[in-house]
Amino acid sequence: MGLNLGICSGKMLRMAYDIKTINTVRERRFSPAPRPEVWAEASDKDWNNWIWQQQKRVKTMEQLEKVINPTDDEREAFAQSHEMFNMGITPYYAALMDPNDPNCPIRLQSVPGKGELHIAPEDLEDPLGEERDMPVPGITHRYPDRVLFYTTHNCAMYCRHCTRKRKVADPDSATSAKALEEGLAYIERTKSIRDVVISGGDALSNSDDRIEYILSRLRAMEHIEIFRIGTRNLVTLPQRITDDFCKMLKKYQPVFIHTHFNHPKELTTEAFDACAKLADAGCVINNQMVLLKGINDDPKIVMELNHKLLMMRVRPYYMFQADLAQGISHFRTPVEKGLEIIKALRGWTSGMAVPHFVIDAPGGGGKIPLLPKYVMNHEGKEWTLRNYKDKEYKYLEP
Ligand code: SF4
Repeated sequence: MGLNLGICSGKMLRMAYDIKTINTVRERRFSPAPRPEVWAEASDKDWNNWIWQQQKRVKTMEQLEKVINPTDDEREAFAQSHEMFNMGITPYYAALMDPNDPNCPIRLQSVPGKGELHIAPEDLEDPLGEERDMPVPGITHRYPDRVLFYTTHNCAMYCRHCTRKRKVADPDSATSAKALEEGLAYIERTKSIRDVVISGGDALSNSDDRIEYILSRLRAMEHIEIFRIGTRNLVTLPQRITDDFCKMLKKYQPVFIHTHFNHPKELTTEAFDACAKLADAGCVINNQMVLLKGINDDPKIVMELNHKLLMMRVRPYYMFQADLAQGISHFRTPVEKGLEIIKALRGWTSGMAVPHFVIDAPGGGGKIPLLPKYVMNHEGKEWTLRNYKDKEYKYLEP
């Protein structure tokens, strides 16, 4: 153990550990994805290359059988869902699957399940009313000062719980150069916009050049203060976060990255390194988890996820109630489950590890936050409040 002797102000002598000799948080708490037999021959250079990872995506049942032992239900769901919503899993993400457990949280998010074949009566094609608030194709403008800008409909992986299945699954819905220009022109002439969410699909399915083009156009607009890049690549394809990409982002700060980790199994050394590169490039990273039955509807899992995210310099930002998109009813949890999770976090752990629990209201109502009941009564200037241990306190407004 390396010990340095250092002198602090005054005469006190103190000892400091040599940080280089201490196991870092990364080494203590994170492990790399295992390499399944089927890709044992791939070189490290290929495995760590995001283009190779995309080219080798698992798209057929024959390929899937080489990684896991699919159940009869998974086979049937694959056969019946293929037309509606493709399967596409990067080797990296596939490596995180348990080959023998159909309830593995990684597998549930990436391999078709029979539940998605069922369209519940309450399911909606456009659950968030995104297309209703479109002044031009490719832009949703719902809130006064910010817009959602769809720049691609491709993703590294097709998540089974995706809310935008209707677009991501449709090869004809790719964002054309014309739509991109129309979107940029709308943002340019709408001076009330100060914040742009660059989304998709997955914004990082665009090439670096295309992303830089979008960022440079937005940065040149006087009224644009910040932008956020929406991507799940940190989860499903962390190799996408290259040094060149981060170097490019540095030029356009402040840049926020909004990502979507759902389970602690997704927090690998590779994901840690990708987040570290972005954070070192000056990005602020926020996580938008979706509450999913059988995957993360448990306070202990959410607590572990959020603790590890903080170690990766990722702030747990939202915990979404799964919306009313078609074919995801089997993932939906009761609203009480989300409140129970927030109650199990608030006060019991760092406030930074407690996300906002929100319902994105159907029909374009926007994000509505939900909280457990902390205000028990309010009369005039007297408030009766309940703390995290269910003890009541009075607050008298001065
Ligand atoms: S990355 Fe996002 S948009 Fe793409 S399939 Fe997954 S949830 Fe849907």
